[in-house]
Amino acid sequence: MIILLKENANPKQVENLTKFLKNKGFDLHMSQGTEHTIIGLIGDTSTVDIDLISSLDVVEAVRRIQEPYKNANRKFHAADTVVDVAGAKIGGGHFMMIAGPCSVENRDQIIGVAESVKASGANVLRGGAFKPRTSPYAFQGLHEEGLRLLSEAKKVTGLPIITELMDINHLPLFGDVDIIQVGARNMQNFELLKELGQIRKPVLLKRGMANTLQELLMSAEYIMAGGNENVILCERGIRTFETATRNTLDLSAVAVLRKQTHLPIVVDPSHATGINEYVPPMALAAAAAGADGLIIEVHNDPPHALCDGKQSLTPEQFDSLAKAVRAILPFAAKELVWE
Ligand code: PEP
Ligand code: MN
Repeated sequence: MIILLKENANPKQVENLTKFLKNKGFDLHMSQGTEHTIIGLIGDTSTVDIDLISSLDVVEAVRRIQEPYKNANRKFHAADTVVDVAGAKIGGGHFMMIAGPCSVENRDQIIGVAESVKASGANVLRGGAFKPRTSPYAFQGLHEEGLRLLSEAKKVTGLPIITELMDINHLPLFGDVDIIQVGARNMQNFELLKELGQIRKPVLLKRGMANTLQELLMSAEYIMAGGNENVILCERGIRTFETATRNTLDLSAVAVLRKQTHLPIVVDPSHATGINEYVPPMALAAAAAGADGLIIEVHNDPPHALCDGKQSLTPEQFDSLAKAVRAILPFAAKELVWE
């Protein structure tokens, strides 16, 4: 971090500032120019409050050289993180295919979809039990019953399960859940993230619909700062001026995140596009770009789905897509193996 002091900065105040920074454990590199003095801070500056320093009387400008996230930063952890989900791995060359309905609706639906996506090669089952819906009148999920049905589908198929946690008070109900999903709307629910830092279960963190990649990494940092390093990032489309798709899939996120972090990256083409026929091309593009996994909505009867039927693939469509993804993985931007 570099602090540029004001011309004619009061020497007493400058001394107070340097003392304050030294007390925080930094080595200082002072560079005296003809008009300005520059202080270079040497050490981990991720905990420094840049706004506080900027607001001081003697300070003209502050610039961060190092990213404000440390645990998630590839600079401090060169090797890809591999997250092991009950035997299904993601990251470091392992590709994960997550598939299932938007919401768990009933026993036949979840078990039927689980069996068919498993036969197509999916290695994790998705299904919402607590649903974040824009309308309070829309189907909100089956709650505890939904979790119970997911557990049953897990028992029948052997597939690990992922489902969304909206309220930390529900965590005791999630004992059998293998990956906890933090939805786009909760990406910056910092109290929720801190609590998820206290457990060791994998967390799939979805990018908020109006959040930058740096904000996504800062949210991952909240979880990791608590000691939970099993974080999987998810690009699921962002809000733009475009209305032809539900969101705009920011595929460049895969390339950018790959450089900035060692955490695995999943792409969700279902919520990104919102339209069934756009899901396969975007899923293939994500795999080709080097995403470590996909999360795809699949429903046995999309026209009658209680949630997100328009973007859901049928089991047959998912089967064709899974074959196509498998075929292109050897040509992906990164070597990926889907076991
Ligand atoms: C979901 O995966 O069901 C979901 C609600 O996604 P998002 O949080 O990305 O909108
Ligand atoms: Mn959905």
